Amino acid sequence: MWQKRMYIDSHSHISYVTHDIQHDVESTIICACTESEFETLSVMAKNDSNIYPAFGVHPWYIDSVSDDWYKKQKKLLKQDVKYMVGEIGLDKYKPNMEKQIDIFKQQLKLASELNRPVFLHCVGAWDKILHVFKDNKKHLPPIMVAHAFSGSEDILKTLVEEYDMYISFNRINDTNEDLIKIIPLDKLLVETDAKDLSISNLVYKIGKIVNCDNIDSIIYANAKRVLNGK
Ligand SMILES: [Zn+2]
Repeated sequence: MWQKRMYIDSHSHISYVTHDIQHDVESTIICACTESEFETLSVMAKNDSNIYPAFGVHPWYIDSVSDDWYKKQKKLLKQDVKYMVGEIGLDKYKPNMEKQIDIFKQQLKLASELNRPVFLHCVGAWDKILHVFKDNKKHLPPIMVAHAFSGSEDILKTLVEEYDMYISFNRINDTNEDLIKIIPLDKLLVETDAKDLSISNLVYKIGKIVNCDNIDSIIYANAKRVLNGK
């Protein structure tokens, strides 16, 4: 029997409050992606103990940052050890890859210094991200989550085997079904990315793919470990 459970949404955004279908979601990790979202999210998190915030400059919004974005982000992160870093990363289809890499590196280093989990966005740029990781192997954050993973099987294996990365999904399709099968169960996470989708349905589908009856409690425990920073 499939029992009713509570779930953790491992990646959402500040717009999530407009979505009220997630009645079985116990906690939500919300990423602020711009400086202007930082303040909004910190207020939201202070008013709701089920919100776990992450603060980052998203590669889509690097041109909107002020000169002291880094100072602001660091100051905010220092307010609470539970605050995480995200959504940060690289996107091949967005302009100014050099600046994207520069901003990404600074945030990765900051997460490592402050010992905080990071939530990664990557579209078509895993080679570049892996290059950054290689150069900074001793200074990587304690926990890294690849959100809405897309990439090859080889990349995926490198991420989980060499970097112990958590992999998060918000949909199942023909391409990622086979990828999900090769991820260790204790590295799987689910997310809405602030979309109107049912987390329980997503977990159910993953359970079918990996042929595991108690995948809901495994994924829940995985998300708890991320929240506890270990
Ligand atoms: Zn997102």
